[in-house]
Amino acid sequence: MTAAQAHAEASKLLERFPTRALIAGEWRESADGSRLSVQDPATLEVLASVADGTVDDATAAVDAAAGALPAWAATAPRQRGEILRRAFELMVARAEELATLVVLENGKALADARGEVAYAAEFFRWYSEEAVRNAGEVVTAPSGANRILVLRQPIGVAVLVTPWNFPAAMLTRKIGPALAAGCTVVCKPASETPLTALAIGEVLAEAGVPAGVVNVVPSSHSGAFVGRLLDDPRVRKLSFTGSTEVGRLLLERAARHVVSCSMELGGNAPFVVFDDADLDAAVAGAMVAKMRNGGEACTAANRFFVQRGVSEEFSRRLAEAMGRLRVGPGLEQGVEVGPLVNEPSRAKVAELVEGALDDGASALVGGAVPEGTGWFYPPTVLSGVAPGSEILRTEIFGPVAPVVTFSGEAEAVEMANDTEFGLVSYVYTRDLARGLRFAEAIESGMVGLNRGLVSDPAAPFGGVKESGIGREGGHEGMLEYLEAKYIAASW
Ligand code: NAP
Repeated sequence: MTAAQAHAEASKLLERFPTRALIAGEWRESADGSRLSVQDPATLEVLASVADGTVDDATAAVDAAAGALPAWAATAPRQRGEILRRAFELMVARAEELATLVVLENGKALADARGEVAYAAEFFRWYSEEAVRNAGEVVTAPSGANRILVLRQPIGVAVLVTPWNFPAAMLTRKIGPALAAGCTVVCKPASETPLTALAIGEVLAEAGVPAGVVNVVPSSHSGAFVGRLLDDPRVRKLSFTGSTEVGRLLLERAARHVVSCSMELGGNAPFVVFDDADLDAAVAGAMVAKMRNGGEACTAANRFFVQRGVSEEFSRRLAEAMGRLRVGPGLEQGVEVGPLVNEPSRAKVAELVEGALDDGASALVGGAVPEGTGWFYPPTVLSGVAPGSEILRTEIFGPVAPVVTFSGEAEAVEMANDTEFGLVSYVYTRDLARGLRFAEAIESGMVGLNRGLVSDPAAPFGGVKESGIGREGGHEGMLEYLEAKYIAASW
């Protein structure tokens, strides 16, 4: 399909998706009637406009969520699970439409969008299964005087703030466990990608989620809007995915009412290749770790540390693979890399690459902003990157792989840990003992050992250091929405 044909098809599709906010089970315009435009990053055309929530809408959404909370918390876990299971099935049935919507507003290639929608739906399936596994504990106190009973109860109204890079998955990764735990939610999607979030709201309503349990309100006044939510004492949970900079602001704001916070923040993932690695596997893994989502992923490999003996060959093979990728509008057939999401994102990537080149690096492939419409940037490999370069300290969030050479294992660990971030790390070696030793020494919440992909709804996803607090997915993900209540009991 050409870009023009895809656009015409997509315009028809867009008419079928909601553009008003979901509050108390109703599709509403914002309190002041204002709307927010959504742009296609490939064509720069306006795709649609959605209700642009005001602070009054924020309060209305909390009213709805707080009103729905007692009945939802008291709903049988099996019933909550079955509603989530229906949401999973509806998402799978609509996967192609949802993936197209993701491409239109985010820009990513269709294959990436299909992968995201499948991954996003899996969170509903996983938490439909976890809903019935909210176990407590009973133990005898060490003194023998009484029993210690621990119940896990829903924490209450949860505010969920999500980014544009995975507009479906970042939302379902929060809504799934929140609903399974018995919480009600107010969702604030990123302003670049509100359509996918509203479409997921529609899926949940059709799956049988009662009015007020899930509220979805886009807002371009993000500071004021989320601020109003956090200033409301009925809100007891904030789950945020986005930049560390905004995360820090929200942690401060949440302190006012001592709101429980789960924070999934930025990353600066090292990708370490030892000279005993299977180079075919390392290059294939590097392509996934770097290029999934066009590099716009918090898990994206941001710094490649390659041992001296294989550095040249690895860089050359990576550059060949990167150079073969087809860049273009995400819906066009055969396209593997779409545009970046917006102008500031591309300008940042270009500036980081120029800085690295000024510091002495060379571009083996890519390295310059192309002519033409859309926020495209070519897949780029930089070799000989100077250790102090800004590109090694900053989350690139684009299709750029800077390569640095190292000599020994201790040096690799030191270089990899030289960052305030700690989300994920990747290591390639055939020596399992070395791989596990490295995995233990690295300061990150997750490690890919001979793998370029770690995300899995059944595993605890999250970071250490300034990459975040808490975990999403796995058994741990639901605990973020539960409070332990201890009862000292004698009988
Ligand atoms: P962002 O600018 O921090 O925005 C994230 C969300 O916060 C959006 O909904 C945004 O709304 C909202 N927001 C922005 N400023 C705010 C403020 N002052 N107060 C309240 N809310 C505010 O991040 P992004 O650029 O969308 O996403 C990229 C970042 O997300 C990267 O750093 C990436 O690493 C991180 N990320 C982390 C994970 C993880 O699991 N650790 C996963 C994905 C992404 P508006 O769009 O309306 O401004």
